[in-house]
Amino acid sequence: MISRIDLRGGAVTDGVFDRDLLPRAELDVEAALEKVRPICEDVHHRGTAALIDYAEKFDGVTIERVRVAPEAIERALAELDPAVRAALEESIRRARLVHREQRRTDTTVTVVPGGTVTERWVPVERVGLYVPGGRAVYPSSVVMNVVPAQEAGVSSLAVASPPQAAFDGLPHPTILAACALLGVDEVYAAGGAQAIAMFAYGTDECRPAQLVTGPGNIWVAAAKRLLKGRIGIDAEAGPTEIAILADDTADPAHVAADLISQAEHDPLAAAVLVTPSEALAAAVEAELKVQAPAARHAEERILPALAGRQSAIVLVDDLDAGLAVVDAYAAEHLEIQTADASAVAARVRNAGAVFVGPYAPVSLGDYCAGSNHVLPTGGCACHSSGLSVQSFLRGIHVVDYSRDALAEVTRHVVTLAEAEDLPAHGAALKARFDWKVPQSK
Ligand code: NAD
Repeated sequence: MISRIDLRGGAVTDGVFDRDLLPRAELDVEAALEKVRPICEDVHHRGTAALIDYAEKFDGVTIERVRVAPEAIERALAELDPAVRAALEESIRRARLVHREQRRTDTTVTVVPGGTVTERWVPVERVGLYVPGGRAVYPSSVVMNVVPAQEAGVSSLAVASPPQAAFDGLPHPTILAACALLGVDEVYAAGGAQAIAMFAYGTDECRPAQLVTGPGNIWVAAAKRLLKGRIGIDAEAGPTEIAILADDTADPAHVAADLISQAEHDPLAAAVLVTPSEALAAAVEAELKVQAPAARHAEERILPALAGRQSAIVLVDDLDAGLAVVDAYAAEHLEIQTADASAVAARVRNAGAVFVGPYAPVSLGDYCAGSNHVLPTGGCACHSSGLSVQSFLRGIHVVDYSRDALAEVTRHVVTLAEAEDLPAHGAALKARFDWKVPQSK
């Protein structure tokens, strides 16, 4: 089952911990790049025909078109289980409450009289939103992608999700219904790297997008890395990770349940408990032995994820050492289940999202906390944030100077231009004030 890593007695010194001591999944995105490159090139050159071929090869379905007909989206909503509809509506409502507050207002700074810089926030015009659907289907990821994009003011939104053999090659009906609830009518039955390439290059059915966001497996992450630049991307949000920093005030049954909840995503998912309590470690191990084999997805995902090198119970000397470990690890999701959890959580520097205390499990954030669940994995949380309204905005600096304001600063610009040996830069200002511009010989 889950292994132990013992970091007591000096592995953490002065609050510093080498993050390579905590293994991650064998997720070689670099190696996957070589596999997705021909897929992306094929989509670039053959468009829809290539997408249809990859649907057959990777998803085992024969489809004739990739864009989902509007009637199929409407039908999915009409046939949606009312309880699922109510839950999705609540998820959307809470996500809107949080994301609406992330909107930016333009700011203008008067640098000198007559000289202003305005930061104007402009939404990306068209975005492609990826919703995973390989091992599990994620209507919740429709909400997490679409709500911030809409709140940012994106005018053109397209969703892609893998075609499902059980549903005539359409994306899962709950995904289609979630799109309908959010007013998204442009949906494509495309998964993996080929879906990312579709958004990057466009096809006869799908106009290219400027940005693609959303979680996915290694093929999705590799395609995003490969096509970055051609298309904007959010952070790489790969196989899910949960780290729990807990002491002996935590309930071992709850800790085990939370570890299992994220192991349920993927055999490459990481479930890590960091604790100074030997007693908690032993009790959680015992709980995992009971709870994990009884879970529905035990064999195909949960047990391999818990047994993988990326999952572990990590013993540390004290909570300070535990904080150093979780900061170095920079988990996608971090739960704090300790005494005075709020104070401990306030000291965390690196995590995609932090869940504080016994009543904020990661599953709440997956669906209905109001927070976003598209979060950076693989340690990227030390430099990147989860999906938000900001992900869909660009801040454009608008520079507006009067003649007098420019005249006042010209000598400094000319001096700096000459210091960089770029005299034409200075000349551009001098020309406006009848200063002598050097003539070419
Ligand atoms: P997915 O939609 O990401 O991938 C399915 C697609 O992968 C298929 O449609 C197929 O095209 C492609 N594929 C499968 N085998 C392939 C192969 N051998 N070569 C090339 N392409 C291949 O769905 P998934 O597999 O269920 O993965 C979803 C992932 O998203 C999970 O790892 C989950 O943990 C993660 N996730 C992450 C977050 C986050 O915010 N970090 C949120 C939700 C889900």
